Amino acid sequence: MLEELKEANEYISSKIDKYKNPNLELFKELEKDAEVNNVPIISKEIRQYLKFIIKTNKNIKDILEIGTATGYSGITMLEEVQDREGTLTTIEIDEDRFKISQENFKKSNLKGVSQIFGDATEEIEKLNKKFDFIFIDAAKGQYKKFFEDSYKILNENGLIFIDNIMFRGYLYKESPKRFKTIVKRLDEFIDYLYENYDFVLLPISDGVGIIHKPFQNSIKKMRKS
Ligand code: SAM
Repeated sequence: MLEELKEANEYISSKIDKYKNPNLELFKELEKDAEVNNVPIISKEIRQYLKFIIKTNKNIKDILEIGTATGYSGITMLEEVQDREGTLTTIEIDEDRFKISQENFKKSNLKGVSQIFGDATEEIEKLNKKFDFIFIDAAKGQYKKFFEDSYKILNENGLIFIDNIMFRGYLYKESPKRFKTIVKRLDEFIDYLYENYDFVLLPISDGVGIIHKPFQNSIKKMRKS
């Protein structure tokens, strides 16, 4: 969470609680579990934003998630594509979390999930499928690698959504010494995205980055003109 926006985010969160509170017992259970067991799940603002983007972009059918944890964000996204017979492929490196998320996906009764237990720095390359929406929410030190591997299997007009990209605001204010390398990497990654891609950086929650993959035709037209 960006400290500077704490009050604004709390305000949004209170409205979500009042009007958009997930009434499904499973979401409440997962939120409680995350609090008790220190599982870093997406914030309510990000959850609502993800739902909104997926709901309003009807071309989003197949989703890839990097960083399943207990399945909270995955179930959120999968729920939004049930009416389109969409799918979710989700990768998790931690065995305990992987097993817990398997149970949670089962409980959700949603169709179309495919779970991978492994390191996304190796697993993305092995995927034999293309995606319309890719959600990156795992080890920040690997964001560039996750992004580059993902972009290759992103369909034209697809989106990549990266959470926590502004890392508690350490990118623009003094950070603890132990985070210096990761902060430098993230800052360079943001420059790289601005320079080379259709990219927008948004100060929501802990910072969100969204990349759009253009249609090949529009790239060719731009090059000709
Ligand atoms: N997206 C989840 C949610 O909101 O419900 C939260 C994900 S949590 C922030 C990050 C997860 O990524 C952790 O469970 C961690 O074990 C996993 N992770 C970290 N590095 C990974 C890697 N290289 N490959 C796959 N998963 C990884």
